[in-house]
Amino acid sequence: MLPATETAGEAVLKQRLDALLTAARENEITLKKFQTLELELMGSADLPTLLERLLRNAPERFDCDVVSLEIFDPQFEIQRVLIEISRTLESQVLEIIYHDNQQHFLSLYEGLTIPVLGPYDPRRHADCFRTTGVPAPASVALLPLMRGQEYLGSLNLGSRQADRFEAGSATDFLQHIAAVIALSLENACNREQLKHLGLIDPLTGINNRRYFDQRLPEEIARARRARQPLSCLFIDIDHFKRINDQHGHLVGDEVLRTVALRIREQLRSIDFVARYGGEEFTVLLSGTPEKLAREVAERIRQRIAGAPVNLLDQATLSLTASLGVGTLNSFPTDQSTGVLAAQLVKLADTALYNAKGAGRNRVA
Ligand code: GH3
Ligand code: MG
Ligand code: MG
Repeated sequence: MLPATETAGEAVLKQRLDALLTAARENEITLKKFQTLELELMGSADLPTLLERLLRNAPERFDCDVVSLEIFDPQFEIQRVLIEISRTLESQVLEIIYHDNQQHFLSLYEGLTIPVLGPYDPRRHADCFRTTGVPAPASVALLPLMRGQEYLGSLNLGSRQADRFEAGSATDFLQHIAAVIALSLENACNREQLKHLGLIDPLTGINNRRYFDQRLPEEIARARRARQPLSCLFIDIDHFKRINDQHGHLVGDEVLRTVALRIREQLRSIDFVARYGGEEFTVLLSGTPEKLAREVAERIRQRIAGAPVNLLDQATLSLTASLGVGTLNSFPTDQSTGVLAAQLVKLADTALYNAKGAGRNRVA
């Protein structure tokens, strides 16, 4: 038999039950949200994608007001990757702070490897957030990202509510998510390193032909979009075989390193040089018309021929190179980037051949 009215006790009980159900539902939603994040992080193909996924909408996801990522990057490897792709990615809007040593992390976590929750302390936490122009948070949760005993970085959450992150709260869950983030970050960094190694010429430290072949169609697509000319230089050291024959291969190698350096000195940061093969280098000059490209080529020629290379036994070696310039001024829509890439290489290579034929140590 049903009672006509609820007793006061029953009403309280019902209220409690409702509250518990609501909490359980909320927990489930939170859990789902973080499971989605975990899958996204683990499925990121590269470092930029990983960082985007981690930091985009992060305040919403972590239910706080500011999120920053600190990264231990002593060799500037991560920064280099992000600078390289920053032209196509919005990575500059993401809040990333780099450190070249472990000291910051060691003092932040007092050498421990567990999350820190509590009030914001300007003396300890000022470096964790970029707070210029915005109010500092009232409470923080700092998640150490570990690789073994080393700090890979720290994910920092800040809330304007003083009671959002409190010391002594359960941190199992945060520790778990920190472990997933650390593992994904480590994997992505390893992959970037491998990629990087495969695209660098070990002798000169500049990019190799593989990189050039990948980059050229990208640059053509960009030039086409921007309706700007794209120039390419082919640079070949004159009588290099003679240098090898007379002074040995080690001296030859030293000459290659010197030439790579001298070319690089004459370029803007947006240009790039690659070792195309043997003693041949190639340069891409974006947004550069032919006349200007000739001037750059002439500067490079003068720089290479301008000073002898010092050899170990105090001897010196004079050096010259020949250069070919090619420029694409228009990018007809019926021609693919691949076809245009081949055209540009052909132009520069033919010009180089002409420079050699005309007597070397010149630009054609
Ligand atoms: P030219 O003025 O016509 O360009 O003559 P060249 O002697 O420079 O050209 P050639 O193509 O005949 O010779 C290039 C030489 O470069 C042959 C090869 O042994 C040498 N070489 C290629 N790669 C390397 C390298 O990594 N180190 C050294 N030391 N020599 C290399
Ligand atoms: Mg040569
Ligand atoms: Mg050659």
